[in-house]
This record gives sequence, structure tokens and C-alpha cells, in this order.
Amino acid sequence: MAGIHEGPEFGIGDFVLLRDVTLDGFMENLKLRFQKGKIYTYIGEVVVSVNPYRPIDIYNTSYVEQYRGREIYERPPHIFALADSAYKNMKRNSKDTCIVISGESGAGKTEASKIIMRYIAAVTNISGQKEVERVKDILIKSNVILETFGNAKTNRNDNSSRFGKYMDINFDFKGDPIGGHINNYLLEKSRVVYQQEGERTFHSFYQLLSGGSEKQLSDLKLSRDCSKYYFISQGGSSQVPTINDKREFKAVNDAMKGAGFSAEHISSLWKIVAAVIHLGDIKFEADPDQHEQVLISNQNNLNDIARLFSVDVDALQKALCFRTIAAGGQVVEKGLKQTEAHYARDAFAKATYDRMFSWIVGRINELIDPKISGLKYVGKNTVIGVLDIYGFEIFDNNSFEQFCINYCNEKLQQLFIELVLKQEQEEYMKEGIEWQHVDYFNNKVICDLVELQHKGILAILDEACLNVGKVTDVMFLQAMATKLNKHDRFTCRSLNAADKTLQHDRDFRIRHYAGDVSYSVIGFIDKNKDTLFQDFKRLLYNSKDELIKSMWPEGKQSVTETTRRPVTAGTNFKNSIIALVENLASKEPHYVRCIKPNELKSPSVFDDERVGHQVRYLGLIENVRVRRAGFAFRMHYDRFLRRYKCICKKTWPTFHGTDYDGTICIIKEKGFSDDVKYGRSKIFIRSPQTLFALEEARDSV
Ligand code: ATP
Ligand code: MG
Repeated sequence: MAGIHEGPEFGIGDFVLLRDVTLDGFMENLKLRFQKGKIYTYIGEVVVSVNPYRPIDIYNTSYVEQYRGREIYERPPHIFALADSAYKNMKRNSKDTCIVISGESGAGKTEASKIIMRYIAAVTNISGQKEVERVKDILIKSNVILETFGNAKTNRNDNSSRFGKYMDINFDFKGDPIGGHINNYLLEKSRVVYQQEGERTFHSFYQLLSGGSEKQLSDLKLSRDCSKYYFISQGGSSQVPTINDKREFKAVNDAMKGAGFSAEHISSLWKIVAAVIHLGDIKFEADPDQHEQVLISNQNNLNDIARLFSVDVDALQKALCFRTIAAGGQVVEKGLKQTEAHYARDAFAKATYDRMFSWIVGRINELIDPKISGLKYVGKNTVIGVLDIYGFEIFDNNSFEQFCINYCNEKLQQLFIELVLKQEQEEYMKEGIEWQHVDYFNNKVICDLVELQHKGILAILDEACLNVGKVTDVMFLQAMATKLNKHDRFTCRSLNAADKTLQHDRDFRIRHYAGDVSYSVIGFIDKNKDTLFQDFKRLLYNSKDELIKSMWPEGKQSVTETTRRPVTAGTNFKNSIIALVENLASKEPHYVRCIKPNELKSPSVFDDERVGHQVRYLGLIENVRVRRAGFAFRMHYDRFLRRYKCICKKTWPTFHGTDYDGTICIIKEKGFSDDVKYGRSKIFIRSPQTLFALEEARDSV
């Protein structure tokens, strides 16, 4: 049976074994493997995955059987081996593990996360417990549901995740999944009202129009023609060759039903989607009697939306055209001007979709909540967390959303550096192990540039948003220019007038770990403030549709009740990402590093420059160097002696010397001295084979 070495024609399965650890050597091997259809290669336990852009038949049950329960080095590189290793580690050591999947947009993260989940589903619940089957089924179905409502076609990826997802799968002591929990991060809701050329809004809209029955569409007052509707047709690309919206519509409805969403809930969700479409076509015109005020010119549309939201049509009209304010104990209604009304409508549409998305995640969580799933916790309960988040992205026009997404990717890179490169080297130093230091680029400076209290971009943005007077995006840009003028990763026109790559006065640029990105400052303040008038919240809280009502609990507040200023969108995102990183760091991490072979979505093109760039910024060469000089396993002397004293005559049953001396006795007797180093408190074992041999010896005692 082929182990990790599949034969010279396929290159080398683990970069640690490369003869020459340079970018050229690395690329040559990666390219050769890609061309031979070998999309996975290891760096020790890290899996490097190159998107094949074509279906490859390597995930069927016979493959599952080949990897199940095996050690990583026994079989050719595969993401199944990583999934199995995470699963085994969790089970053996009763320790929480996590799988962090990173790479830029379109590199294959979401596909990888689904493959991992399917593998885990395939190797668990041998005894076929009904409730475990139900949980597994929902975990798989949740992907379909969340992709419909949270993914979209972008210019980088036809199925791009527009939200971040971290999913914990809970296991019982036998290793069967008994529940889970999904955390979602910042949905790119601006897409609901605006799309760049060539892009679409979320799949759900097109699925409904393509797949809804005649009756359903007529009930929702919709036609199949997307181009009629402003909110969903701006990108001019509603048809995507790789996407079958009609089929997906059926799949998502089946998935929701199968997962346990009620028919009423499903119907309400599609009503919300339809209402959002109609909102985009609400037209405002100046009120001829009241100069500064607007009227809605298309009353039919208004009636449809009111019906879909199950709210009173007059109340809807009022919410769209007026704003209620409490001033000096009095409640006043202020008419909106045309631009204000448009702005308020868009904010309403975005918030409605966003709330719906969060509700869907919450509903899935209820259905897989391990506490209510009926499966009892027996013994220790452990989790495997799978992180699949939007990848680093650069568009022609980058805004607040790209800024958040790219910041999040900086944080994940930072975690990788901390865990894989930094801590590893620091531990060797601490333990006094001889060690050749490996240099790497530490992106902490860029994380700081964004997140530092008082001084970072997000703090400067929050300060601008706090000002009561009219602060513009351009003033925010000036504030950044003043405060960050010394930062070598930040620039804008006023700091560097000669810089031709900054196309506009309103742009600023960050030198990210993965490349330079120019952001347009326009919209930053609005998006960060994320204001939605109370009137809309009260409107939907008063909906007769229980589901819609439940999405707006704060709507029950009366006009005069003052609310605390909500945390800004940017700070909220920062806090959630910091919590995420802490959570990941507390678990035993496994990494999948995804690489996009070309920009053409082609299965045959390996673009050396693009791939080389990714290999460099992901720090893969440094990863190989650290790993190569490193040790696969380490253990405190007391633990080592306790575990292996039984395999050595000198230490069994009792040993009178120190733990350190006992460890040396065992290693010497077994003939592994060349493969280990003795640190101050731990033994370091270079190759996994040595550890496996020790384990086998222990098993056969
Ligand atoms: P984003 O950050 O935009 O969400 P992503 O990294 O999640 O991007 P995916 O959506 O997983 O990217 O992959 C993009 C496309 O590449 C998929 O829709 C699929 O067509 C193809 N692809 C990715 N991985 C594989 C694979 N293992 N086998 C076959 N095709 C794949
Ligand atoms: Mg994705």
C-alpha cells in the first residue's frame, strides 16, 4: 500500500522532505503535484491544498476507509488524514481540537470544511443511534442553508462566503457527535442593496425567482425576471453558468424542512426575501404640499411589502417617510428628505436581511444544541471546531467590508505565526534545545495598525463616529493621515502625493501581509455607525408574523425610552474576532492552507506568480524550515516515564531515579537516542515513527 511516498513521478508528499527548501524548490514540487492531480501536500501536520477547479474522485467511501484510524504517514497526503488526526487527538487525549482553514477568496476553504465535516460524519456513529444520525444530518444540511443565505457570486468566486463561520461539533465520550454550535461573523449586508459589476447579491434571491412555483411567486407578487428588480440586478449577471438556482432552491427547502424548520418558518423566510426585493423598488417623490418631505409614488409596492411583513400599510409608509424623535419630553415626527428616505430604506433592507440570517443561524443552533438534543452527556464532552471564514480579498473598489474581512485574515495569520512559528521556536529556546533560528515576517504590526486602542484605525473611526457634529468620511481620512503618518504600512494621498497607485484623494492604503489594498473611505462612517431608525424596529416588532416579530425584540421600547449608544460595527467585529482567536488558541490547532492556482477558475492553469505570492505570504517556506529543524512530539519527563515505564525492564515496575533519568533509560534501551533531544523539562522526539513505535511497544506489553 502506498504510504506518504506515492512514487517519484508525483513529487514529494511532505515538504519537510524537500531536498532544497527554497521558493523554487517548493513551487516545483507543488506544481508537479497539481499537474498530476495531487492537490494535497503536507508540511508535517499542516495540509497545503491547491484548488483543483474540477471534481476529483477522492472523497468516496473507499477513500474514507483508507484513511479511517490510520496514522498520517501511512497513506498519501489527504485532507481526510487531517480530519482523522483531529478526531483521533480529540478522542485519545480528551482535548478540544480545532481546524483552521485559511487562504484567499476562491482558494477552496468552504469546500475543505465540507469535506472535513462529511468525513467526520462518515466515521462516527457506528452503532447507528437515531439521535446522533439526526445531529449529523443537520450539521451537513446547515451548509446548504447557510450558503443559500450567506454566499454570493463575486468577481473572485462564484460561491463566495460573505460571512464568517466557526462551527463547534460536540462529541460524547465514545466519539459520536451529539450536537454543535455555529458562530457567525459579520455578514456583508451592504450586498443586499448594492453589487459591483459582474457580481450578484446573496444566492437566496435568485433561487427564489428561479425555483419558486408559479403560485408561490404570485403570492409573493414576484416575476421570474431578475432584471426588473433594482436590488438584485445591479451587477448585471444574474445567470451564472456554474450555478443552478432552480435546483438549489429545491435543495435548500428540503434541507430546511429536513433539519426541522417548520413550514410556517420557511414560508416567512421567503416572504422576507421577497419583501426585501420589493423594498428596492420603492420610489420616493417630493411631497408637492410639503416641500421638504417625501411621498411614496408606487402604492402597490407598498401594499405588497406590508402584506409580506404582516404590518399595517400606513405604519409602513410612515416608517419609510418619517422619523420619530423624542425631544425635550415631546415626541415629534420629522419628514425625511429624498436622500434621507433612500438611505433609511436601504438601511432597513440590509438590517432585515441581516436579522433573518442571524435568526437562521440561531434556529440551526437550537436544533443541534447538545443540551436539548436528548443525548445525555456521559463522561467528558469534547469539541472539534471548524473555522471557515471569508478569505483575503482585493477588488477594484474596496470598502469597509473588505477592510474587516482583510483584518480578520491578518488575525488568523497572526495566530498561525504565534502557534506554528513563534511559540515553537520560543519553546526550543526555553528548553535549551540547540536551534537554528528561522526568520519570518510577523504581521503583528498590521493587526496593531487596525486594532490598537486609541491609536488604531478602528479607534480613529469610532472617534469620528462619536462626534455629534457632521463628520465626513474625508475628515476621518484626514484624522488617520495625522495620526498614522509614521506608520510604514499605512498611506494616503495627503501623505504621499506622488503615489500614483492611489487613484483617488479619498483612498487610503494598507500594506497587508497578503498584498497592498487601497480602500475607499466613502461609507466608512455610515457603515461603522450602522444606524437604523427606531421606527423600523417598532414597525416589525408589531408584525403579526411571529417569526418577524421575534427578530426585533428591541422594537418594544417606546419612543421616549433612551437607548445607550450601541457598539459600532467595527468594534463589534474586532471584539468578536479577538474572542474567536482566543478560543482557537485554547484548542489544539490543525491547519489547512488553501491555495488558488489561478484567477481563471481553470483546472489546468498553475499561475507561478500568483501561487508564488500566496506561498510567500502564507509563510509556507518558513513553516517548512521551522518544522524541519523541529520535533514532532514533546512530553514532560514525568508524563513520559509514567506512560512508557512498562516497556523497559529497568523502569518497570518501579524506578528509583529522577523522571529525567528514567526517560533516558527507556530511550536508550529502545535504541531511539539519535532521534531525541533532552530539554530542561521535556523530551523532544523528532519523528512521529519513534512515538508510534513507543505506543506499539506499550500496547503489546
Ligand atoms: P471565499 O473566501 O470566497 O468563500 P473559498 O476559499 O471558500 O472562498 P470555495 O468556495 O471553497 O472557496 O471554492 C471555490 C470553488 O472552487 C468551489 O465552488 C469549487 O468549484 C472549487 N473547488 C474548491 N475546492 C475544491 C475541491 N476540493 N474539489 C473540487 N473543486 C473545488
Ligand atoms: Mg468560502
